[in-house]
Formats: sequence, C-alpha cells, structure tokens
Amino acid sequence: MRIVFIGPPGAGKGTQAARLSRKLAVPHLSTGELLREAVQNRTEIGLKADQYMAAGRLAPDGLVLQMLLERFALEDCSCGFLLDGFPRTKVQAKSLDAHLAQCRQPLDLVIEIQAPAAEVIVRLAKRGRGDDEIPVIKKRLEVYAEQTHPLVDYYTKRGILRGVDGIGDLDEVHQRIVAAVQQAEAKRR
Ligand code: AMP
Repeated sequence: MRIVFIGPPGAGKGTQAARLSRKLAVPHLSTGELLREAVQNRTEIGLKADQYMAAGRLAPDGLVLQMLLERFALEDCSCGFLLDGFPRTKVQAKSLDAHLAQCRQPLDLVIEIQAPAAEVIVRLAKRGRGDDEIPVIKKRLEVYAEQTHPLVDYYTKRGILRGVDGIGDLDEVHQRIVAAVQQAEAKRR
C-alpha cells in the first residue's frame, strides 16, 4: 500500500504512521524526521533547511523533493510506504504524482487526521520539540491552513481521501485508520 498522512502539526500523524507502518510492514517516511536528521548531521540539505524549520516555515520544495526521491530509491520502498508530512504543497503533490505515475505505482489512500487548532496547540506545547514554542506553533498552523490544507480538496477530487477523527486515545484513532485502510484495500481488489 502507498499511503499519505495529512493533517495539522500535532494531529498525531507521526505516532499513527509509525504504528500503521509496523502493522503493514512498509517503511514510515517522515520528511520532518529526515530533515531533523539532516540538520543534526549538518549535511548540505540540513544546513539549508534549518532556518526554515526553526521559523515554522516550509523548507523549499526542491530540497525536500530531492531528499525524498533519494529515500524512495532504497530497496525497502518497493512494496509500499507511508508518507508522513509530505506532500505539504501543491507543487510537492504534483511532483509526487508524476514520480509515482512514472513507476506505475499510484497512491492508494490519503488519510487526513482531523484535529481542531485548539487541541493541537495544547498537544504541541506539551511535546516540547525545538519548533514547539507558541509563536512557531502558530506559524506552522498558519502555513498548514494556507499551503497544505488545500491538498484535502486535491485528493478528495481524486477519490482517494479519507478523513479520520484524530480526537480520542491512540488505540481508538488507530482503529479508525485501520478501517480506512481496509476499505481502500477492498476497493483496490
Ligand atoms: P514535521 O516533523 O512534519 O512537523 O516537520 C517539521 C518541519 O520540517 C516543518 O515545520 C517544516 O519546516 C519541515 N518540513 C517537513 N516536511 C516538509 C515538507 N514536506 N516540505 C517542506 N518542509 C517540510
């Protein structure tokens, strides 16, 4: 299965994607994680992305795409993947489509984890990552609404989007996601 997780920061994408990745035995690709590693290792990509991340803004499309395509080339992605935090812009979504069309491996499902802003602010403020300070959180939410949320419409039109309520405990939300995956699997057959 090739699945994308979309949703505001703090909706639980990372946690839920990690869990589903174990269940489906496909790799969990988080561009945020890959970028944080790049920053830590002071690679060229990391040095370029650092300032954007610290400000709660998106790293340039070309940079993130280059990083992701390198990751896709690794063997473990051949039987599917879960993307968490990518695509985040229309340009990224279209580039992903073009790449997957070329390999004849279209996306099966886009899961939108829904959570209201008031809830995610509380969750993020508790998490305490470097970019989880209130002004940066607010910027990330603004960027989500402006640049990433329009992808919900983009994938709804393609008929592959499923909205999942992100409020509730981890198991509950996981079960909702599993149900969405099972429906998508049934449709694929
Ligand atoms: P995340 O861990 O998904 O919340 O991402 C943390 C930060 O990494 C974001 O606030 C962005 O600065 C950057 N980032 C992650 N994924 C992307 C992406 N697909 N496009 C641009 N920037 C990204």
